[in-house]
Amino acid sequence: MLTVGLPRAMAYYYMYPFYAEFCREIGVNLVVSPPTAKRTMEKMEFCPTDEPCVAVKLLFAHAKELLDRGVDRLFIPCLVSLERFNYCCPKFIGIPYMVNNALENGARVISPLIDMSQGKRDWEKTWIEAGTQLGAPPQQAVQALRLAWAAQRRFEELCIRNQLVTPEAFRALNSNGPALGNQQAAAGEETQTVAVIGHPYILYDGFSMDVLTRFTEYGPVLTAEMVPPAELQRQLVSVSEGERLWSFEAQLLGAAYHYIRNGLVDKLVLVGSFECGPESIIENYIEEEAARHGVPFLLLTLDEHTADAGLATRIEAFMDVQPLPVGKEAPRIEPATETLVPGPRAERMVIGMPTMGHLDLAVRSALAECGIDSIDTPHATKEILELGKPLAPEFVCLPFTFTLGQMRWLLDHGATHLLMVGGKGKCRLGWYAQVQEQLLRRMGYEFEIIIIDSPLPLRERWSGFRQTLKRTTNQASWLKIIRALYTGYHRMAAIDKGERICHRVRAFERQQGTVDRLFNSFVRRVHRAPSAEAAWKLLGEFREQAEAIETDDTDPVRVRIVGEIWVVLEQYANLHLEALLGKSSDPRVWVDREISVTQWFHKNLIPIREVTERKKEIHRAAAPYLGTEVGGHGHYSVGLTALAPREGIDGVIHLMPFTCMPEIVAQNIMIKLSQELDLPVLTFIITDQTGEAGFETRVEAFLDILKDRRLVHH
Ligand code: SF4
Repeated sequence: MLTVGLPRAMAYYYMYPFYAEFCREIGVNLVVSPPTAKRTMEKMEFCPTDEPCVAVKLLFAHAKELLDRGVDRLFIPCLVSLERFNYCCPKFIGIPYMVNNALENGARVISPLIDMSQGKRDWEKTWIEAGTQLGAPPQQAVQALRLAWAAQRRFEELCIRNQLVTPEAFRALNSNGPALGNQQAAAGEETQTVAVIGHPYILYDGFSMDVLTRFTEYGPVLTAEMVPPAELQRQLVSVSEGERLWSFEAQLLGAAYHYIRNGLVDKLVLVGSFECGPESIIENYIEEEAARHGVPFLLLTLDEHTADAGLATRIEAFMDVQPLPVGKEAPRIEPATETLVPGPRAERMVIGMPTMGHLDLAVRSALAECGIDSIDTPHATKEILELGKPLAPEFVCLPFTFTLGQMRWLLDHGATHLLMVGGKGKCRLGWYAQVQEQLLRRMGYEFEIIIIDSPLPLRERWSGFRQTLKRTTNQASWLKIIRALYTGYHRMAAIDKGERICHRVRAFERQQGTVDRLFNSFVRRVHRAPSAEAAWKLLGEFREQAEAIETDDTDPVRVRIVGEIWVVLEQYANLHLEALLGKSSDPRVWVDREISVTQWFHKNLIPIREVTERKKEIHRAAAPYLGTEVGGHGHYSVGLTALAPREGIDGVIHLMPFTCMPEIVAQNIMIKLSQELDLPVLTFIITDQTGEAGFETRVEAFLDILKDRRLVHH
């Protein structure tokens, strides 16, 4: 009988009943790794990088523990989505691939998929395939899948009906015994009822030093798994598109709202992990609601370095805070007001929007054509960062903090409306606008925010998109809007094409800097181009001028830039990497960057054959290393790196903002890729502390490696 190991980390704490029942029914001996202990923590170095959150590093440690115990296979299903309208954190999607790529001797990870987004069911066949891999006939796997869901439901009902925390419900399920909760102090004069909200793989894992039990000595402790799903959904109607929050975080936020709004707790604690992406989005909602109801709130952020003493002190200090009287009447839950309500023409409208490369130029010229005033946004500088940092949640991704700083600057300089992209997906970008709006309103700013969301799928989203366009242009005529969008698109596309010419000529021009001067004046003139035709004519002129530049056969090294789109395109945020590479005289560098605003537009909104075919090619190349999308450009980073050697690329520079979830998954996998393909990959994790000196030194050293390799290989 095959022995299959299940790491006691991440999804184990949510899905163990499902996994255990499925394996039991297909006749597989499922071995769960022992609880986290000191020796487990020592195995966290099995995780190829230090970037992921503690949850991911613990999963690597438990996987290593199981391999050291000689299991035949690791069982790490790929959780993409557990509900129709939302996804799981990108790390839950990427973890089976991250572990698989970290294993020396090839694939031993069994990773069937669960992806219920858009009501999909085809993922079930991956469980039948997993059953086959583990020696079970298809019909036995189908039966096992059905029984597994039943076991999962029993577990969830046990937690709710008997008010059990996850480990108690697991014990009750395994023992078929009485469902006994841990003997919490009954509510009484001296006791305080506390809601401890957090991922079970943080709350109940040995690394968190029994954080939950520490609160039971003060009184009853309530957790997220004790709240019925219907009540969670009821609570989340007050959050715009709350149903599209990541599956597990929707449970955390809904439970927090339930306990606070119904006056069921004296205090609330959100227990999170360092660098947790989804938590950085929900923490602001919880903090605001707790403040609104006068419920003392504590955010406890843990990782493998958290000290016992510090934790104890913080909890004691918090529990000494006098709670306000509880049991106030639960207020009516106000459904979120959609910001798409077509309103009368605004008296005065001055629009401001964050930057991303040259995008704001194209949008501002389109707005001008509709007679809308807008403000020129300063790029992402230290000053702008200092405007955003005081407001931004600690572990939110860097583009959020920079764009928040830009929004503050714009409001301070007369903007009445802020334009921001929306679009709920796997990463945090889709939540930026809503959380930034909350934070700016909390600062007392008065403004209107216009969130541009994807019009796809047209059936569900076209009418909202139309209203947003009308609102953004202050009810301009459709003729004006369409012409403005058309010209705006072609200005953007012309600039992106010009940039690729610039990348190539920079590598060969005799007088370095010549093409940059031409390009900058080209961009300024395209920005003022009266029509699409004029923009393309300017591109033609720029191409002729660039081709006329005196060049040498410099034999440049080819460097591909991949990573998160905002830090890749926002030259201020990536410390002007492309200009730095362009200035390199030995070796000369030919930059290859496919990520652009136009490429993003065709990849996500209006597909064109060229971009769609390239997308398929990139996904095919990524498949042996990362078999599914993890949000943002994570999949692209892996695929473009896998294609690099066969496309004449000498090295890859990977740019990612600190805590960027999709790129953390990609970074982990690109380590294997770099070794396997013998391809130098340099990853920069851009933080608010990233300094120019260190950055330039690392780039120069990287270029020297590429040059030396060229000499060796040629
Ligand atoms: S980033 Fe947060 S939600 Fe994602 S795996 Fe880590 S702790 Fe969990």
